[in-house]
Amino acid sequence: MRIFKRGTATIAGSIGRFFFPPVCPGCQTAISRAGTVCPDCWSGLRFIERPFCEVLCLPFSYDLGKGFLSAEAIAEPPPFARMRAAVLYQGLAGRFVTSLKYGDRTDLVPLMAGWMRRAGTELLPDADVVVPVPLHAGRLWRRRFNQSAELGRWVAREAGVPFAPLALKRIKATDSQVGLGPRQRQENVRGAFRVLEQRRFEIEGRRVLLIDDVYTTGATAASATRALKRAGARDVDLLTFARVAAGAD
Ligand SMILES: [Zn+2]
Repeated sequence: MRIFKRGTATIAGSIGRFFFPPVCPGCQTAISRAGTVCPDCWSGLRFIERPFCEVLCLPFSYDLGKGFLSAEAIAEPPPFARMRAAVLYQGLAGRFVTSLKYGDRTDLVPLMAGWMRRAGTELLPDADVVVPVPLHAGRLWRRRFNQSAELGRWVAREAGVPFAPLALKRIKATDSQVGLGPRQRQENVRGAFRVLEQRRFEIEGRRVLLIDDVYTTGATAASATRALKRAGARDVDLLTFARVAAGAD
């Protein structure tokens, strides 16, 4: 019976592929294998590979040796220990972020989170808990969807790390960060996050992997990290889908 069921599922899958061949999530052209993008779209994505700054994941144009840090990481060390991002925030990567945030493209979650998991290979074995950057309750209610939570849920499940989507709360309804400079962004998100007292047990003494969709100036990630540390997090790493390259913001 079990074999029969499995056979039926396989046949159903084949029929499904016949009527609905997989399409590229970037441009909707037919592709041979689901779960990826077409070669054209692939070449438009810039995956962040070594050499890069070990702390801020800023790509270097040439290899300066292991452990070399960017000028940004030395001048202004972030409160988190290490960050990793899958791709540079440009072109198709930017459209994916927007489609997930404002659209209904939840089909992008496995693809984007899969690339994040790969980028976070060094961080995930050290993580005790995965925590997404939360939206303010009002915004979540309007949008009904927190893209960072969806990406984090997928990464946590695939990596077998506990997921704590309610530990961190956004207590300040911050203005949109769009169009703000680095200092204004910092001011905008200062004190915006807090770990709820009844959720402190999920954070205290743990190494947290914080998840966000995009890293721009780092103001949001820094503010969220400080809130986690105030609640007793042993340390915080950061994993994002995309990162703005230095000087672009
Ligand atoms: Zn494509």
